[in-house]
Amino acid sequence: MLPVLEFEWSQALWSQTLGWSPNSGQQLQLQRLYQQILQGNQQLNLTRITEPSEFWEKHLWDSLRGIFPQLNETTPQPLSLIDVGTGAGFPGVPLAIACPNWQITLLDSTRKKVAFLEALAKQLELPIRSLAGRAEQIGQMSEYRASFDMATIRAVAAPAICAEYTLPLLKLGGMAVLYRGQWLAEEGRALEPAVAQLGGVIDRIDAFTTPISQSVRHCIYLKKIQPTPPEFPRPAGIPSQKPL
Ligand code: SAH
Repeated sequence: MLPVLEFEWSQALWSQTLGWSPNSGQQLQLQRLYQQILQGNQQLNLTRITEPSEFWEKHLWDSLRGIFPQLNETTPQPLSLIDVGTGAGFPGVPLAIACPNWQITLLDSTRKKVAFLEALAKQLELPIRSLAGRAEQIGQMSEYRASFDMATIRAVAAPAICAEYTLPLLKLGGMAVLYRGQWLAEEGRALEPAVAQLGGVIDRIDAFTTPISQSVRHCIYLKKIQPTPPEFPRPAGIPSQKPL
């Protein structure tokens, strides 16, 4: 038997912390997501985080916290969102469960993870598009470039690299969300010129702690205000070798 996520306590925490809680169908999907990840972990190295409350906090809650406080009645919906370097599907899959009318694309360079995500999407009946490829290549393809309202990126690379992976994919006015742990003022000052070169600005930095372990988190919101110059993203490997 696989461990079960205990939803009695999590329902109250969801509403207190995010002003949202999953309906019964979404609860079932979150539960099945957890079980599929545990199962997938037997073949693929998907995540170290498998204990139920830790999985809830670090994968489910954390994924939604980056987006939920930003949504309000004036947010145009449905949104198109790309999750860059999604790995086992975070934050993209919990977002797809919570926002079933959004168009969500998951991107990862590891083919095996993308195959896992395709099977997962079928199992959970989620209308997700999964792409195997590198952000540097996808960002130069006319089909994907400047075509998303939002881009998320968690635990993939240093901030300036994340900016180069995400900003080219956004429409003008779109928002990239960098999910980070600790954040220092120096990092913000270093990120600013990189973001400006890519046609963006740092719109907001949100500092908060997670509800169970009180771990420090920051979400960095980058707004695209100008088209990204055509030379970005640079060829595969360059953004990480020579960060802006
Ligand atoms: N976002 C997930 C996974 C983080 S691990 C989470 O927070 O749990 C980082 C993932 O980014 C890996 O799966 C790796 O394959 C992917 N990745 C790294 N560089 C990438 C690139 N340039 N383009 C696309 N995916 C990339």
